[in-house]
Amino acid sequence: MFRRRSITFRTTAFVAVVCLALVALDGLNSWHSRTVQLQQMSVATSNLARAMAQQADDTIKQADTALVGMVERIEHDGTGPEAIERLRKVFAMRVAELPQLDGLHIYDKDGNWVANSRQVAPQNLNNADREYFLFHREHEERGPHVGVPVRSRVNGKLLIPVSRRINRADGSFGGVALATIDISFFTKFYDSLDIGQAGAVALILENGTMMTRRPYSTDMVGRSMLDTGLFRAYVAQGPVGTAEILSAQDGITRLNSFRRLTNYPLFVAAALSKDEILAAWWRETLWHTGGVILLALIVGFVGWRLVKQMELRSKTEAELRRARDALETLNKTLNTLAMEDGLTGLANRRQFDVTLDNEFSRAMRDASTLALILIDVDCFKQFNDIYGHTAGDECLQTIGRTISGLASRRPGDLAARYGGEELAVLLPNTDVAGAAVLAERIRSAVRDLAIVHAGAPDGFVTLSAGVDALSPSVTHGPPKELIQSADKALYAAKMGGRNRVCTAEIRPTTA
Ligand code: GH3
Ligand code: MG
Ligand code: MG
Repeated sequence: MFRRRSITFRTTAFVAVVCLALVALDGLNSWHSRTVQLQQMSVATSNLARAMAQQADDTIKQADTALVGMVERIEHDGTGPEAIERLRKVFAMRVAELPQLDGLHIYDKDGNWVANSRQVAPQNLNNADREYFLFHREHEERGPHVGVPVRSRVNGKLLIPVSRRINRADGSFGGVALATIDISFFTKFYDSLDIGQAGAVALILENGTMMTRRPYSTDMVGRSMLDTGLFRAYVAQGPVGTAEILSAQDGITRLNSFRRLTNYPLFVAAALSKDEILAAWWRETLWHTGGVILLALIVGFVGWRLVKQMELRSKTEAELRRARDALETLNKTLNTLAMEDGLTGLANRRQFDVTLDNEFSRAMRDASTLALILIDVDCFKQFNDIYGHTAGDECLQTIGRTISGLASRRPGDLAARYGGEELAVLLPNTDVAGAAVLAERIRSAVRDLAIVHAGAPDGFVTLSAGVDALSPSVTHGPPKELIQSADKALYAAKMGGRNRVCTAEIRPTTA
């Protein structure tokens, strides 16, 4: 039972482990391919950031290079009408050469327009309030300055100012040389990048001012980025880095790569939407996860059926075993019933006959003895008549118990009810004398029971017995001859006055 249950349990466990392993392996595999996908995308965004940084650096460098020449000329040639006219022509040439340039400008120390690349110089314009002007007036450094975006006072365009300080001969502040880069130059380039529907790119000043970005919107230009996750990640990770950031503006999580420009205090950021990156992975994962779950369900179902069948089989086997045991018990009972006398519990006539045949043959074979005692209750008819048939039955039961107690001492001995109130005891390996001793013991035991019998000569129930035995040295006829001779001896006992044992005379041989 324990083995069976354990097989069922083990089968269930095996099927469960197979199903779980299938799902777990698939999950692991999916997770791995997701990681790979994100890594590839991280490489892609970082390459994109590198290209954007290079483009921004080059664009500003070209404008700045033009400024270096301008500053040198102004400081050398001064701002006389002739010099200014020549400058204006050089400006026009430069602006025509460099598509990113909106204009080139010179301001004097008060912020008034001295010269610019336009055909007609705007009158009465003063840019002394501009951030870049104030910066150069306050700082003596001669290097380039990239300022916060400004809106042109001439054409209304959004511009990125790149400027350098002009010194007078004595080193004091003499004005500002300015190149303005059209923000749309960057916007167009950014629009040409393949970054999906929800991708984003941006150009940001290191002080946190947004220059431009995609998706583009005018009011984003010049806005402070100090409070954004992107800026914090840039500050935390340094000039080059990657970060996954949830946008506060559109709620999209993006994989961001950022990189500082080599020569200027700006950085670029390139970002791809995580959902877009993983869209294909999701589709693929859903398909094979569905397939694996279906497979696990099939395996589970087949396993379940198998376990049910196993359970059914062991149940059937147990039932068969029970039925067989019940049948065996029944057979034994029937056998006992068939071989036993119902009233006395002694062997019945059939068993007596079978045993007599067997023991007779064995005695012949082994040349051994076999004794038979035939017993008959004396005056039993009268006992019934006086005390009733039920009392007669009880008397027979008592006599039966007494005989059984005395005559079943050796394994081969058999006490049987021969018929009516006649009983028989079969004693293998016993001679006449031995059997007569036992018969006498039985007779006196029954007499000693002192069952009152008013119809008997001495007032108690008594027995008569006839004894005979096979003699090994003599050849015998069939078993019934042994019965007949014992019966004869019994008859002699009756004739002799009852309540006694008689032995048969030595019978003549039939051979
Ligand atoms: P005796 O043998 O001494 O010559 O006299 P008897 O009265 O015993 O004579 P007999 O053998 O002819 O009578 C046998 C009686 O035993 C007949 C029957 O009433 C009675 N008897 C036989 N079998 C049973 C039984 O199973 N139960 C009862 N109560 N009586 C039985
Ligand atoms: Mg009789
Ligand atoms: Mg009798």
